[in-house]
Amino acid sequence: MFYLVEEFFSIQGEGKYAGTPSYFLRTGGCNLSCEGFGASYDVNGLVKCGCDTYFAVDRAFSHSWQKIEDAQIFISHLKMQFDAIGYLPHVVITGGEPLLYASEKVFYAVFSWLIDSGIHVTFETNGVIEIDFDKFPAYKKAIFALSVKLSNSGELMSKRININAIKKIIDNSQESFFKFTLSKDIIEDSAYDEISKLMINHPNQAIYCMPVGECKSTLEINDKAVFYFCMKHGFNYSDRLHIRIFDTTQGV
Ligand code: SF4
Repeated sequence: MFYLVEEFFSIQGEGKYAGTPSYFLRTGGCNLSCEGFGASYDVNGLVKCGCDTYFAVDRAFSHSWQKIEDAQIFISHLKMQFDAIGYLPHVVITGGEPLLYASEKVFYAVFSWLIDSGIHVTFETNGVIEIDFDKFPAYKKAIFALSVKLSNSGELMSKRININAIKKIIDNSQESFFKFTLSKDIIEDSAYDEISKLMINHPNQAIYCMPVGECKSTLEINDKAVFYFCMKHGFNYSDRLHIRIFDTTQGV
């Protein structure tokens, strides 16, 4: 079983494959809450804070999540979606934290079908959950966008960084890269130190940095600082195309 928050065909807006037509599956639930990213939202009159995908993180929204319990039914549904598109697009499995379901039978069956069909699948993950690559070998063929959270997420380091989980993914998967979400403030403060510490064990890992921004106006506050930070340190700048173009619209 896994919870699906939304699915849609769009263009990947972030990271190494930005610009690639992709079919998105957004799962529900996350092991972090990242209040430091400062996206505020309302739950029954109570103002809360989280990341830009709070609707896929906060279980207050779970009434709108779809429970996927039958892999074959969902695979048939995906086949129809891909037929309508007219080709097999890249698939991005994002969240919330999609790897919460890594050991779930239905989730693994759907993922394995995607891989067996020759589809490129990217997981957008916070890199905290350890995958058993021996028990679930199809994951070796996935691409992992390791969106490891830094101190600006507001999460404790012990909760947001799992060195073993990151190492397992980098060592076992066919492709992975780091993707960091940076604000102007953390760039002026500790971003380079925090990233450098992570890179000690993975010096050749590609790094993509993108600006914090749950909406266009916040993005514009942070984008130039990230741009110059990437130039200074030899990292790749990643914009957030979907926010730049569609602002806060969901499902694009
Ligand atoms: S890990 Fe990602 S999805 Fe989960 S709360 Fe943090 S930013 Fe949001």
